[in-house]
Amino acid sequence: MSSPATSPAKKRAKRARAPKHAGETRAYRFPLDVTPAQEARLHEARFACWRLRNRLVQDRIENRDQVKAARAAGIAAAYLTRADQYEAVKGYAKHDQDWGALHSQVRQNVAVRVDEGCRRWFEARRDGRSGVKPPRLRRFESYRGFTYPQYGRAARIRNGRLELSGLGAFRVNAYRKIRGRKKTVTLAFAQGRWWCIVTAEIPVGLVHPPLPAADPRPDAGVDPGLCALLTDSHGVAYDPPQAWHNDRRRLARAQKTLARQWQAHDARYLAQAYAALALGLWPVSYRHVPRSKRLKAQLAVVARLHARIANVRDHHQKKTAARLADQYRQVAVEEHGVQFLLRNRRLARLAADRAIHKQTLRLQSKLGPRYVAVGNRRPGLGGNSQSCVCGAAVPKTLSERTHRCPACGLVAGRDHVAANVVQLMAFGTTSPTLQRGAGSLSTGDGEAKGGACERRVSEPARASEASGKRQPHADCDQGHTTGGEPTVAGKTSRHRAKRRSLALAPQPPGSPAGCRRL
Ligand SMILES: [Zn+2]
Repeated sequence: MSSPATSPAKKRAKRARAPKHAGETRAYRFPLDVTPAQEARLHEARFACWRLRNRLVQDRIENRDQVKAARAAGIAAAYLTRADQYEAVKGYAKHDQDWGALHSQVRQNVAVRVDEGCRRWFEARRDGRSGVKPPRLRRFESYRGFTYPQYGRAARIRNGRLELSGLGAFRVNAYRKIRGRKKTVTLAFAQGRWWCIVTAEIPVGLVHPPLPAADPRPDAGVDPGLCALLTDSHGVAYDPPQAWHNDRRRLARAQKTLARQWQAHDARYLAQAYAALALGLWPVSYRHVPRSKRLKAQLAVVARLHARIANVRDHHQKKTAARLADQYRQVAVEEHGVQFLLRNRRLARLAADRAIHKQTLRLQSKLGPRYVAVGNRRPGLGGNSQSCVCGAAVPKTLSERTHRCPACGLVAGRDHVAANVVQLMAFGTTSPTLQRGAGSLSTGDGEAKGGACERRVSEPARASEASGKRQPHADCDQGHTTGGEPTVAGKTSRHRAKRRSLALAPQPPGSPAGCRRL
């Protein structure tokens, strides 16, 4: 043995452990493209997991009763733990073929889900919170899927296929690159099809890179509402299409047809049941009456419409969040509950269609630390839409859409002012757009009529539907741009042909040579 100083093993620097970064978990959901046989296999696994879950829940219920009885009799007794249920799952798997066929980690994950539900209930009891119940027996229809808790050999995506241990390989439309370290794979049945959800852990610094010291972008305040989904303090209203409202007639028609199919189904069931009773037999249960082809097809139609509505809503909310994140350095958002809107019978439908809370969650996810939550009340002044930037209280009803301040004379859109109040509370500044009308009116009739100078601000500008990244090019000779109208429609070959023919036409006097807006 050589001395420590000369030993190459000792000379080598001690390997530093990889630092533990704070990670953020992101979920990626991809649709599966399955054959009928594969679909049946997935449903079998879901059914086995559902049976196992209800068995474990039943064990917990019986255990709680035993503990209660034992403690009443003055005997010490313990509640079941996660480890107990792991052992129980092992035992069950030996005696049940379907449970034995499940991957061991999937089985354990069922126990984990039950345990977490129980733990939440224990914690609520300890903290004296009411309304939290322990896991209870559930119907198969509400049990949506199962999880492989470790990405890797047991479950992974390779060459466009999702490989699941014990279930086989499935074609998956993995249209996005998954960033970060993949952690879990969940198979879920929703909207009439199977999905695979991969969660990945990304270091926070990669999701939300630190802001440069000199960021030229302004800060903004945002006011969520029902007239426009979001209005920012610089006077831009973000008003995405109302997904449900636009499809409501189609949905109503499809659901009416579906209701008739169900009526026919019920009639068939009753006929079968009476026939069985006449023969002195016990009728089959409602759940086991086969559904007709028409009923199944109509269920799929309604499911597709609901999926479409959810997708349209999601798409526009993501887009709005991305646009705000691109334009502004920090965004302050007024956070308020939405239950009061949903309880209002005149507003509930619109409020549910707008999905304000989901939009704020999307903003949080997109902006990260650049999202600044602001309360919805100013002490002594009232709500953000009930006070002025000057500090005066300006009470108004919900139908009053214009803010008129008796103290400073500010007249502007209600949401625009509320967004500026939010910006003021978060950053101590207001947008110059609020002052825009002041100059034009300060020497005009506002002063001439005597009294306070009226500062007018026009209605908030509507945000363009096009992405902020697609700026029109100044050079019209480029064939692949729209030359002025940043719309998707302007990108089709038909529009390009029209633009070329117009560009060749004689220019009107006064227009800049070589460039023409359409
Ligand atoms: Zn004022």
